[in-house]
Amino acid sequence: MGNLSGEQNPELLDVSEALEQILKCFSTPGITKIAHSFSLGFVLAEDIKSEIDVPSFTNSAMDGFAVRMDDISQASKNQPVVLDVVTDIPAGELVDIRLSPGQAARIMTGAVIPADAEAVVPVELTDFVRGSPGTAAPKSVKIYQKVNYGDNIRRVGEDISIGDIVLRKGERIRPQEIGLLSMIGVSNILVYSKPKIAIFSTGDELLPVDSPLTPGKIHDANTYSLIALIEKYGGDVYNLGIVPDDPLILEKCLDQALSKSVDLIVSSAGVSVGAYDYLREVINRYGKLNFWRVNMRPGKPVAFGEFRGIPFIGLPGNPVSAFIGFEVFVRPVILKLRGCDPLQRKLRDVRLLEPVHSDGRESYLRVSVYPENGENVVKLTGHQGSGNLLSLVQANALLLIPSGVKSLPRGAKAQAWMLDDCF
Ligand code: AMP
Ligand code: MG
Repeated sequence: MGNLSGEQNPELLDVSEALEQILKCFSTPGITKIAHSFSLGFVLAEDIKSEIDVPSFTNSAMDGFAVRMDDISQASKNQPVVLDVVTDIPAGELVDIRLSPGQAARIMTGAVIPADAEAVVPVELTDFVRGSPGTAAPKSVKIYQKVNYGDNIRRVGEDISIGDIVLRKGERIRPQEIGLLSMIGVSNILVYSKPKIAIFSTGDELLPVDSPLTPGKIHDANTYSLIALIEKYGGDVYNLGIVPDDPLILEKCLDQALSKSVDLIVSSAGVSVGAYDYLREVINRYGKLNFWRVNMRPGKPVAFGEFRGIPFIGLPGNPVSAFIGFEVFVRPVILKLRGCDPLQRKLRDVRLLEPVHSDGRESYLRVSVYPENGENVVKLTGHQGSGNLLSLVQANALLLIPSGVKSLPRGAKAQAWMLDDCF
């Protein structure tokens, strides 16, 4: 059991309350029709019903010989059955033939099964050693082993029948879904539109990654990691770049986002209590600020409101705080707008290999989770300063310390939020 502390800072909003406030500002996602070949990562906005049987005709599952059961029931290695090979059936051709007793047809994988054939004997069970491509069918074939009725035959409709619902609304399109849609001849589908998110980073100290550092300046890390996060979770990015700590320029930048009709504006830095943190003031002047401090660590200065009617989330400037703030508050918005469960997270029960400490805020500690002796254990990846991106890079999960808990001893159980999920 952790060390509990009853005291809570009354100015700080609970994480779950903050998230609830944010999510309720976003309603039904938009729907759009797209080509299935461009649908990777989108979420289906309709059920998909198959209009065809799959397979649409009964066909061979192997390269071999189509046979009748009566002819091969006695076949064995020592006493092979010899059958006349009356035709050759390649894939893609309709060969109109009916097998009579004593007859077989050479057949390829995917080729139409002839009438009266009851099984396919794979070439490996015959004397017909498959030669190089183009080898003609033999006049006769020796069958060394019997097979069962229906063996190596794929029946019409065996996988999918006409009218079957093969994909459901809400399912995410992966490469295999694209294959399945192609198989049933569906090339256009209804999906939820990608949310469009404007992003900018504020701070007079910021330089783009390719500008040499000058005294007092740092490279902008947040623009790049936040863009990557938006893309990872399936949003479209409208990048407004680096904006100086100047209220007029900030307002112009927000207006630019407005002109692009984005679903959400996300910024980093400039929402805290610094003398040059103008963002909250600008948001307040032209819209509304719902809250700007959340009971979490790292990432306390998270702001939420709207600028001229467009929802706005101001993330903290410190790179780890910005990243975690995004995971906690922006990711659920993207998921909701994409038609998915916004609160889904990949959680693991873990055991601590070392004691951990917090200040009583809901904490997200950078950890490495790995299996040991049949359970998942965790170790901190390094010092937890909110600017230390390296310890975030070395982490594969965030350890969740509930609000009010100030420490957990070695051996305690907790939950870790795995960072490898792509949804
Ligand atoms: P602020 O929220 O503006 O007080 O910024 C907090 C800290 O985060 C400061 O040390 C900033 O220099 C740093 N910071 C702000 N924006 C960025 C950014 N885009 N990339 C890296 N560090 C940043
Ligand atoms: Mg700043």
